Amino acid sequence: MRVHHLIAGVMHPPLVPRIICHVLLVEHPEGLVLVDAGVGRADLVDPRRLGPSRHLLRPERDPSTTAASAVEALGFSTDDVRHIVLTHLDIDHVGGAADFPGATLHTTADEWAAATVDTKLAEKARYSPVQWAHDPEVRTWEGEGDAWRHGLSGHEVLSGITLVPLAGHTRGHAAVAVETDHDLLVHAGDAVFDASCFGATHVRDGSRLDPVRLLRAFERTMAIQPSRLRGNHEALAALDREPGVRVVNAHDERLFPPRLMSTGLRSTA
Ligand SMILES: [Zn+2]
Repeated sequence: MRVHHLIAGVMHPPLVPRIICHVLLVEHPEGLVLVDAGVGRADLVDPRRLGPSRHLLRPERDPSTTAASAVEALGFSTDDVRHIVLTHLDIDHVGGAADFPGATLHTTADEWAAATVDTKLAEKARYSPVQWAHDPEVRTWEGEGDAWRHGLSGHEVLSGITLVPLAGHTRGHAAVAVETDHDLLVHAGDAVFDASCFGATHVRDGSRLDPVRLLRAFERTMAIQPSRLRGNHEALAALDREPGVRVVNAHDERLFPPRLMSTGLRSTA
């Protein structure tokens, strides 16, 4: 399947280098599929939709930095997006879903519960239910799923697209693996912030991957189960070392394909 990489948000948390919201657009036989949705147009018009976390993430309010704008710039309609497979429901990952009201959302049952009916006090500030107030169809995926790779498990939510539970950043966080025309592309979401934590091998421009300590600290601050982070990084490292597998994440732009950065907000790989 052909995959486009999109920037669906640019944010400036205090002390941390600028971070992006890297999302994938998959040309799937069942229609276009987004992996994560970034922030949405309405969020940028009225940042109160982002809840209190907006003060921490501080997104730029440029409407071109949304998945909807990137999809249209590629010549598609937002109606062409039929499914959105979410790594989790933090505001900078699900907000863009409102720009694709006809798309079915896919998430783990644990994440949906955390964000909706069973939100704990420590989780309250991170979710913003107004982002799914357009009442989309939601398909939740229960439990660990079937055995997958490197001791991980997964749910094949659409042919060639697998939701791989990797809890830690949030209660129901998952990576999303996509079989592209060339390789297996694993979007780790927020299972890792600083790409040097898993020794990423597919780095933009082959640039050296120095640790970004403040990004690591930010990751620990945002994690609901920090003790799980190291194990997740190790699993991602094992995946990324496997021939034919490429791991990217949501926020470290050093993993963004090179043509994207030089030509604007999107790239095809
Ligand atoms: Zn995030």
